[in-house]
Amino acid sequence: MTKTSFTNVRIWDGLSDTYRDDVDAIVIDNGRIEVLADAQDIPARDRIDCAGLTLLPGLIDAHVHMVLDPEITAVDDQLSETHEVMRRKMRERARLMVEHGITTARDLGGGDWLELELRDAIARGETPGPRLVCAGQPVTSVKGHCHFWNGEAADVEAAVEVIDRQVEHSVDLIKVMASGGNLTRGSQPQDAQWTGEEMAAIVGHANACGYDVAAHAHGTAGIRIAVDAGVNTVEHCSWLGSDGKREPFDIALAEAMAAEGIWISPTINAGWRRFGEEYRSRITANLKGVRERGCRLIASTDAGIPRVRHHDLPIALGVFADLAALTPLETLRAATRDCAEAIGLGNVTGIIQAGWSADLLFVEGDPLHDLEALTRQARVVARGRIIEADQRVSA
Ligand SMILES: [Zn+2]
Repeated sequence: MTKTSFTNVRIWDGLSDTYRDDVDAIVIDNGRIEVLADAQDIPARDRIDCAGLTLLPGLIDAHVHMVLDPEITAVDDQLSETHEVMRRKMRERARLMVEHGITTARDLGGGDWLELELRDAIARGETPGPRLVCAGQPVTSVKGHCHFWNGEAADVEAAVEVIDRQVEHSVDLIKVMASGGNLTRGSQPQDAQWTGEEMAAIVGHANACGYDVAAHAHGTAGIRIAVDAGVNTVEHCSWLGSDGKREPFDIALAEAMAAEGIWISPTINAGWRRFGEEYRSRITANLKGVRERGCRLIASTDAGIPRVRHHDLPIALGVFADLAALTPLETLRAATRDCAEAIGLGNVTGIIQAGWSADLLFVEGDPLHDLEALTRQARVVARGRIIEADQRVSA
């Protein structure tokens, strides 16, 4: 890869509270950011003029399932696809994601490690797509949430075997189902799937193997065992009471999450804008409340579940901002720097700084004041590779 310069561009680097007024050019070399500079100091050769554009770090989705087809609503139909069909569709999803400015994503589950194949093919430059970090088969109880992904375990000993199998397949983190979920018949989102002791042993083994843990938890009971066990991120974090309804967040638990630095990944997709006023206000009260207690949120969509497309993060972020009462700056941080830190890539991507990966999104407009600018994309750079975004994001 040759050295490339982008000049005359307004830059939000992911660190500052506003645009940089000291630099208007960026030089990338061999997949990395070499320097931020004044355009006057950049040689004319290999310059790409970006007049009128704003540059921000490439977006990160902390929760996707590359293997799931959002057009298919029945789990059995998902599972009956051949690997060949799945692989073809997964490459297509990855291409669309990176064309829509998503340069990194965390995959939180599949049954046959196909997303790891895709991760490696993207890393080798064989197929376009975001950098992926993958959890493989989620650890779940017998007939528990997503048991069809082959991570079922009857007890701690069996759970350890599931984790060891993921380690053998070179996953990047471990996912555990702390509560039931909606996708799985017979599982109850409000119920915890493990005792506190079991959960502690599962997380302890994953940590001993050198892995972070993402815990799926809808119910407050599941959130509690996940937090007590010291997971790194809580997915969904829906605060469901024992009756299955959203209840006010647990203050002591939120304070514990803040103290432990446990991230909340609320999986808000673009479809949530259709929720009724009363339901929305309950979600907002909880998200505002946990933030006031010091918890930090990251952007995530659960892409792949029915009707949630893999490349919709740019439009989902507007809905996330509305529901969580975030400013555009806070929202963008949750989808770049903070997300990178939460998924273990804080030294790799998420900010625009010399030495970091050249993961860049160029848009028209003013994203720090109007998130809709994210849907007016001009160009994407993923690990130094320029991807012309000919397909504009449509709402
Ligand atoms: Zn999920």
